Amino acid sequence: MRGTPGTQGPTKRTPVRAADGESTSTISGRVLRDWRWTHGYADLIESAGRCELCGHQPIRYKFEIENQKTKKHLWVGSECIKKFVPIFDERGVEIRGDRRKGAVLDRIVANSRTMARQDRAFEILDNLSRVDPRFQDWTWKGNWKHGFSARQLQLVAVSCKVNGIPFNSSDFRINTRKGWVRQQVRELLDWQYRQLRGALPAQRIEEYDQIFGI
Ligand SMILES: [Zn+2]
Repeated sequence: MRGTPGTQGPTKRTPVRAADGESTSTISGRVLRDWRWTHGYADLIESAGRCELCGHQPIRYKFEIENQKTKKHLWVGSECIKKFVPIFDERGVEIRGDRRKGAVLDRIVANSRTMARQDRAFEILDNLSRVDPRFQDWTWKGNWKHGFSARQLQLVAVSCKVNGIPFNSSDFRINTRKGWVRQQVRELLDWQYRQLRGALPAQRIEEYDQIFGI
């Protein structure tokens, strides 16, 4: 059985400061039925933001919500979305419950991080392709998601250095699922390992750090 719209959400009264034009009673511990997430989302990179609904700060990730009646917009933190703002899946079915809503928000954050990394990596590859013909092959971008071998990423790093292009290994991945790639990593020189370390999966870092004495 579905709950009556307007009475869903946490029953516990949560201390929330009234946003402009909202009475406190409207936003205390109850889902705000008139508000929708606009799908607007921003990563402030540093935790420098403030939730415009409850005033909580600092926040790193903020989500834009709109009042369907007043058209007012606010940027709020994920906790306030979870507690107060109805969100819907692609089929228009409301996602209910803090945990399920939290999972949706986590996915948005993760996807946007991946997109940001991809944007930065593709910019590097674009810059390289202008000065180094070896990077004109589309497979560089095509393989970004899958990950590179250690030798391939070493080539990127070296060409970046030669051409004065800033390189950040954490925008790339070394695919260590293959034994011969893991062997390549072990054969890197110390400085090469340090340069590529950010591209290694977290679960393998410890093992390699031991080899390279980090
Ligand atoms: Zn808030």
